[in-house]
Amino acid sequence: MQVASAVDGEAVTQLVREATRIPSVTPNEEEFARWACRRMAESDAFDSAELFECEPGRPNVCGTAGGGAGRSLLLAGHLDTVAVEDWSQHWAGTDREDPFGAHVIDGELWGRGVADQKAGICAIIEAVRAFGRAGLRPAGRVSTLFVCDEESGQPGSGVSAGIRASVEGRAGPRPDADFAIYTEPTTSAIYTAQMGFLIADICYTGVSAYFGRPELGVDALRAGHRLLDRLWEHSDRLRESVPAHELLGEAFLLVTSVTSGGNIAVPGRFELSLIRKILPGESLDDAATSIQSIAAKVAGEHGVECTVDFSAPRDHRFGGTPDEVAADQPGVAALARSIEAVTGEPARIEGAPYWSEKPFLRDLAIPGVYFAPGDISNCHTPFERLAVDELVTATRTLAHFIAQWCGAHDP
Ligand SMILES: [Zn+2]
Repeated sequence: MQVASAVDGEAVTQLVREATRIPSVTPNEEEFARWACRRMAESDAFDSAELFECEPGRPNVCGTAGGGAGRSLLLAGHLDTVAVEDWSQHWAGTDREDPFGAHVIDGELWGRGVADQKAGICAIIEAVRAFGRAGLRPAGRVSTLFVCDEESGQPGSGVSAGIRASVEGRAGPRPDADFAIYTEPTTSAIYTAQMGFLIADICYTGVSAYFGRPELGVDALRAGHRLLDRLWEHSDRLRESVPAHELLGEAFLLVTSVTSGGNIAVPGRFELSLIRKILPGESLDDAATSIQSIAAKVAGEHGVECTVDFSAPRDHRFGGTPDEVAADQPGVAALARSIEAVTGEPARIEGAPYWSEKPFLRDLAIPGVYFAPGDISNCHTPFERLAVDELVTATRTLAHFIAQWCGAHDP
């Protein structure tokens, strides 16, 4: 408990406020990366802190602390945040107007990225600094890895360029550890499971024609209408045929946008996007094939051309794979004990209602979980915020866990 007690609640709160005030909307992570690197470099608790570019102007940050006979640990997070247009519109003329203001209102920090995931990165930095404050060092190697390019949404970015470069050894040392914590917000629960996903963009091309001579056209919107019906039927069948996961719920697909028509003419083009939730045990290849064959069959029935593009490749060419570690995995069990020791409450083991980058680490045989303060359900919205009390408690928990997992010794 010595290291956990050495966490400075005021210092970690200030760290998150500073971090939030440095915008890092994908793909502009560099200034924040430099800041995070500096904060580690200036602390005696860290042995190294370095930037490694995965693309020009887009660095990852790697740090190390301690080492020896103890178990090793990787603490990872992403540097980027989603954009802020929604925020500025929603809060115009109020005290929350500035998305990078990081004001504390009623015990909560408000701002873009406070929870997703500047809190996670700052909790990591402070948890390691706590070893220095306690006059101790981790007895196993602690590595920190902060990557760029996790968040989707900005055209041309958000495809995991940062972590991909890292696991391929193109940006800093290839990650290697006995256990990993990736600090996506989890409301301080342990997320052992996560969904996989794929995004499909389907385009039908028919033939536009003057409205009064529809027999000269091929109606892509009519084909699209049939496609929508077939896709929703497919989703209903998935809910029935794929057994629900106890932490993640049901598999399904959601049509997220449709565009067609506009002129007083036979619509010659129909575009649709969908996201498919994929459970552990399901195959991305099979999910993609099902969608392709539904799209092709309807296209054939209606005489339209069809293309299907899987536009969000992550750790798989069609999307991101699902992932799960057992609740009795030693790292999970140790983190649960740290939560209980620090909070006096039993740890909650839950499933992530999102996809993030932990599967890249799994592929290097590094088992891991998500754990951090903050609630994903208000992230990516104008209501993103973080309770200061939760931040401090989660940072103490992380410090406690590092000391338990790696061990701590007097240097
Ligand atoms: Zn995130």
